[in-house]
Amino acid sequence: MRILLASSEAFPFCKTGGLADVVGTLSQKLGAAGHDVVLFLPKYRAVESAALQGGMSYPLEIPLGAGSVQVSLRYMQWRSVSVQFIDCPPLYDREGLYGAAGRDHPDNDVRFTVFCRAVLEGAKAMGFKPDVVHLHDWPSALVASYLRTLYARDPFFAGTASVLTIHNLAYQGVFPLKSFLQAGFAKADAAPARKAEGYSFLKAGLAHADWLSTVSPTYAHELQTPAGGHGLQALLRRRRDRLTGILNGIDLDYWSPERDHFLAQRYGAADPQGKAVCKAKLLADLGLRAAPGAPLAGMIARLDRQKGWDLALQALTPRLRRCRFVGVGEGDPALVKRVSGWARRHGSSARFHCGYDEGLAHRLYAAADMLLMPSRFEPCGLGQMIAMRYGCVPVVTRTGGLRDTVTEQPSGRANGFTARPGDARDFGRALGRALDAHGTADWGRLVRAGMESDFSWDRSVRSYLELFKRAAAGRGVPPSV
Ligand code: ADP
Repeated sequence: MRILLASSEAFPFCKTGGLADVVGTLSQKLGAAGHDVVLFLPKYRAVESAALQGGMSYPLEIPLGAGSVQVSLRYMQWRSVSVQFIDCPPLYDREGLYGAAGRDHPDNDVRFTVFCRAVLEGAKAMGFKPDVVHLHDWPSALVASYLRTLYARDPFFAGTASVLTIHNLAYQGVFPLKSFLQAGFAKADAAPARKAEGYSFLKAGLAHADWLSTVSPTYAHELQTPAGGHGLQALLRRRRDRLTGILNGIDLDYWSPERDHFLAQRYGAADPQGKAVCKAKLLADLGLRAAPGAPLAGMIARLDRQKGWDLALQALTPRLRRCRFVGVGEGDPALVKRVSGWARRHGSSARFHCGYDEGLAHRLYAAADMLLMPSRFEPCGLGQMIAMRYGCVPVVTRTGGLRDTVTEQPSGRANGFTARPGDARDFGRALGRALDAHGTADWGRLVRAGMESDFSWDRSVRSYLELFKRAAAGRGVPPSV
């Protein structure tokens, strides 16, 4: 198949979260399976210019409002995937992918409108007629709307179906109507994007895309409820026959304690001794003293209400005599202040590193005995799968993809500890059960169950391909909205 992926993030080029891991790995797996894959990304400052040097650059003029914006396509071959960067320094050459210092860039509507239109114009310029365009979250959602409106009669895209994947429904790209008009849409075409608070790029894409998917079966259900639908539940219920949940995998070559170059010592399921070395080294590096055998809990997550840092702190505070804690994350400045202050007050037992640090994240997965994920909602979650690979037992809430991957039920081969979402006391109890189990024979079984779990991409890639084939075959059938 000819598959075009358009995304605002892809690891290793630009990443703020799991979306980047998914797009990076999925595109490579599709390319390696012999499909013709082109990945479009914005050329942010974070994308190394060196990698693009000597490559071709192709100028494009993108209409915007009454005028236009000059961009250029910059090409790079990344193993089996052709990557096309949309280069436009006034829009993308700046600090942060979506914002800086805790604030969104004020022109994100223009930045991602231009990106979406440049994806379609770029595909035409390079003569790449996709069978499927695969879009991810609000920043690339407008591609689906363009295909249904301005480009609906363009013969170049006559054989193209669109699939929009929801990685996180909480981010909807809501702007004034003016942003849609400036993007070239007629007022009537913008109507499906309307919400009480404005016009949403994501809602437009969800109404216009041929097929929708999300990143776990449980989240696909939660999205259709008032509690999980973030105001879009009615639309998603109407489109449920076109909505499917496909669990993400993780890149097992990259997330491998046997091969991980960030670690003080590598280890595997058959020989877990190296994990103790990694733990001792990290504790020493961070100046944390611990009784021999005392458990280390870790947390690696964006500082956002979603991730439940507040719940983690409440659960940890009365239990710091029984464990040590190391947290890594960046995000909401108010939460940074709260978590940093808490860690300082509990300096003999806890550390918090504010920032994005790939190496530290790897070292912490390897060092920690348990990973805390008290998410209020979690579309899929990668942390718990990575943790299990590294012999680190997840303590999670039963929501979204966490519910689909972690079980405390012995009948289902327990691999972690689970609590009710949004309930600090229940999360504390789950953490308590984890601390009780640590050091017992049960613990070894939990660690092994996690390390032996199959979180490979192969199953998910097969499901995506089935979805793409269904979408391509059913193209032209109008969305049931
Ligand atoms: P989300 O996409 O909602 O942020 P996921 O659990 O799906 O959450 O993915 C998070 C990914 O980002 C994981 O690979 C995790 O290790 C990584 N990550 C999150 N915060 C940091 C950080 N501060 N430093 C390094 N890696 C991080």
